[in-house]
Amino acid sequence: MQFLKKYWISISVLILFVGIIITYLIYPAFFNFILKPSQRTVYERSFTEKPVELKRWNNLYSLAITDQTLVSNSIAENVITSNTKPFTAGYIIDLKFGEVLIAQVDANNSWILEARDLNNKLLADSRLENNKQILRFIPEKDIKASIILQAKLDTQSTTNFKIYTAPRYDFPVAGKGNTAIQSFWGASRGGGSRSHEGNDIFAPKRHPVVAITYGTVSNIRNRGLGGKQVWVKDYDNGYLHYYAHLDEWIVSEGDMVWSGDTLGYIGNTGNAKNTPPHVHFGIYKNGNAVDPKPFIWQTQVPKNSSLLPYHKEAKANGFAANLRKEPSSNSDIIQDLKTEPVTIIGNTGNWYHVRSSNGTSGFMHNSVVEKQ
Ligand SMILES: [Zn+2]
Repeated sequence: MQFLKKYWISISVLILFVGIIITYLIYPAFFNFILKPSQRTVYERSFTEKPVELKRWNNLYSLAITDQTLVSNSIAENVITSNTKPFTAGYIIDLKFGEVLIAQVDANNSWILEARDLNNKLLADSRLENNKQILRFIPEKDIKASIILQAKLDTQSTTNFKIYTAPRYDFPVAGKGNTAIQSFWGASRGGGSRSHEGNDIFAPKRHPVVAITYGTVSNIRNRGLGGKQVWVKDYDNGYLHYYAHLDEWIVSEGDMVWSGDTLGYIGNTGNAKNTPPHVHFGIYKNGNAVDPKPFIWQTQVPKNSSLLPYHKEAKANGFAANLRKEPSSNSDIIQDLKTEPVTIIGNTGNWYHVRSSNGTSGFMHNSVVEKQ
């Protein structure tokens, strides 16, 4: 009894601790709200009593993480999965700091959709929104990512799938777009003495210049190369947005602004006095200028094409039957498949997404794939 009295706190903590461990071992989902396990982890738990299925599932995943297929800008694919031929594929994409990666599968939790870095570390996985699985990932630097799409076993469907990027922010000049940017990051300035640390966006004098996100006007100045300039601090991350050569500003320091609010008007103050009116737009992270283009460059959501004929048993037809990294005849050839059998796992435009008999995936033009 003396012992219990002396150590009752330690004993209670120990009992609580053991209780937590036992609960985790018996019913791990109880801790989901704290541990936030990935979709993959949650799904893998359903195989506890089925080691053979788990092995099959993991083998399919291993195929996806070695895939060499590339996405240059975007892709919209009709992906095909069945009990006997479950879909699995990886797509590698180069993401620039400032872009938002978006991947979407039009299905209701019957797929695992995730982005990983090339060391296989999970960056993000999809969330269910309006009966679609949508993945969003915002990189904090330039990064290569692998997007893994894997159908849950026993799913049978043909489903729309998209990968694309969007700019993190809205456009800084009202009603204008990409074509108004006429001088980019890195262009020579000051007779080669310095490099252009922003984008020049052209519009008629007195055209509205607008905030690109929610933030605070942190500084207003009229001096130096930039002339009349407004600085806005992004509320979310502290990045500074720099708008220079304005003809006039119409905000005050400390103002809160929303995306689309007019900050001032296009001009040619500062060292732009001999150039046509434009805004020099820059972004600074921790005091360093970064290329603002990926943050504002507008992109389009790719559209799904019509379905190509599906052959349950297919093969390469032997006539320059190239397996390519992308659905384009300009893209790198992975392998000439000659007359090998292939499994069709999807299609986009006139291209089949296939997997060869040795497990390599890529794209083949429909003219070189035939029914076996
Ligand atoms: Zn400039």
